[in-house]
Amino acid sequence: MAGNAGAGKGVSLMSSPAIILDKVNKWYGAFQVLRDVSLTVAAGEKIVVCGPSGSGKSTLIRCLNRLEEHQSGQIRVNGIELNDDLRAIEKVRRDVGMVFQHFNLFPHLSILENCALPQILARGTPRKEAEARAMDFLARVRIPEQAQKFPGQLSGGQQQRVAIARALCMTPQVMLFDEPTSALDPEMVKEVLETMVALAEDGMTMIVVTHEMGFARRVADRVIFMDRGAIVESNRPDAFFDAPQNPRTQAFLSQIV
Ligand code: ADP
Ligand code: MG
Repeated sequence: MAGNAGAGKGVSLMSSPAIILDKVNKWYGAFQVLRDVSLTVAAGEKIVVCGPSGSGKSTLIRCLNRLEEHQSGQIRVNGIELNDDLRAIEKVRRDVGMVFQHFNLFPHLSILENCALPQILARGTPRKEAEARAMDFLARVRIPEQAQKFPGQLSGGQQQRVAIARALCMTPQVMLFDEPTSALDPEMVKEVLETMVALAEDGMTMIVVTHEMGFARRVADRVIFMDRGAIVESNRPDAFFDAPQNPRTQAFLSQIV
């Protein structure tokens, strides 16, 4: 474990874990969607989650900012336990940024406003400061010149970079990505992945649901494979891709590689 984390990529071994899941179970009615999921993520660590459609990947990361509730087990984010305590949920959401498959930008707001308004509404940040920060992060994702446009005027790749900038404007300590490139045309995947690589190199703690193997090999400290609601394999990317242990992982990888 320590050897793995110590393998590099800016993982801090000194601070307490960013995320702890301990035997987390969740049901949708009678259907069990998460089964005894346990996972500890160090500050600065990058986890890639893959697995077949319907295996619970989205549910897992949505539980991490309480977009979904779990029914048993424990989830801690930056030391705060997620339960029915609304103040705890609010605190955790302040620290956790999320990027979805379908961008989820506000279509009627400019790019600048998409990035500035959440800061103003959720934080009470003065408008001038919020806009300045928005411009900083739009520059970091390399589209400051698009600030006055509306989402519909941008390509999918540009919109996803805005969604990343918008999340970063809230100064999160953890970033969750749910298949951020799977709705994009192939030529736009690279620009979004490059933005995510840069974020990883800056030391962000990241959990990324993706089947982009190149990204996983380059960035991930660990790759996790989910099947039917359970984590069935977890390993360093080279071992995970070159010598998968679980038959279900093997079958899955043989289909997508
Ligand atoms: P993945 O992201 O790996 O494709 P999901 O977490 O989206 O998987 O879904 C896992 C399973 O839970 C799927 O079988 C899905 O149909 C089911 N599911 C997801 N959301 C709900 C919901 N709100 N109500 C009932 N079932 C759901
Ligand atoms: Mg999903």
